[in-house]
Amino acid sequence: MSIPRRKDLLSIAPLADEEIELVLSNAAQFKALFRRRVKKVPTLRGRHVLTLFYEPSTRTLSSFEIAASRLSADVTHFSVSTSSVVKGESILDTVETLESMQVDCIIVRHSASGVASLIARHSRASVINAGDGWHAHPTQALLDAFTLREIWPDLSGRRILIVGDLLHSRVARSTSTIFHRLGAEVAVLGPGTLIPDTRWDWLRKFRTFDEALHWQPDVIYLLRIQNERLGDDPFFPSLGEYHRHYGVTDERFARIAGEGLYLMHPGPVNRGVELVDAVMSYDRCLINQQVENGIAIRMACLHWLQPATSSS
Ligand code: ASP
Repeated sequence: MSIPRRKDLLSIAPLADEEIELVLSNAAQFKALFRRRVKKVPTLRGRHVLTLFYEPSTRTLSSFEIAASRLSADVTHFSVSTSSVVKGESILDTVETLESMQVDCIIVRHSASGVASLIARHSRASVINAGDGWHAHPTQALLDAFTLREIWPDLSGRRILIVGDLLHSRVARSTSTIFHRLGAEVAVLGPGTLIPDTRWDWLRKFRTFDEALHWQPDVIYLLRIQNERLGDDPFFPSLGEYHRHYGVTDERFARIAGEGLYLMHPGPVNRGVELVDAVMSYDRCLINQQVENGIAIRMACLHWLQPATSSS
């Protein structure tokens, strides 16, 4: 059965199971190209991808740029800090300008939840949400699922513990959703102030790292403390206190490594807060695999989406 192409990728929740499987299996095919001398394919020759990042990014922006160029698309980075946006141009005026340039796909990151879908509603181009405020980061979720599926082709019954600032994390929202959809059991641990009570009632919640480790997770997924979203109100006493209670300290790392648990983090990592340095060279730390797989997943998404009124 052929699966219709979507115009936009804004969050995980509306995707059908078959759509998730399609992206994951296409990503595996794209990843196979990475070991070749020539990593490029002509799939999107003649298409134009534009990156529109209103928030800083290291890996997501370069990952999309590499993915688009490996598909032979032309890529333009719209530099928000040097554009008319700094002169007060509204988002929709910026989009209208970009529409006139007839790009085929816009990759958007913004600090406000909902901006990617606002742009998608006003644009003929496909829109991929590369992170909007606290809301969603669908390509991160897909690459996380892909990374675990390389270890366990079936995630049913696997236990994944997500640790940290769940309240402000778009990664937690998207990634916990996809893990749950793929059959994993998902639990969370973090300061009470950063764990929403009313949402995600299917998530198991732990109060201490000891209790959470006793549950015997297969994977610990560490979230970055979202300093830029915490404002002036303290959600926990200090970063040192956070590290003692919710970080992978030297002592916890010895236990985690002894039990052979996998560790994940979406980056950027705050060393000494979410984890100690030694974690970065642990052979079951999947951070580098997540980055590599991000390119394959983004190639699969760029390949799958189709702008409105496109003839091919
Ligand atoms: N890079 C991820 C994001 O943009 C994770 C993070 O920044 O905490 O959401």
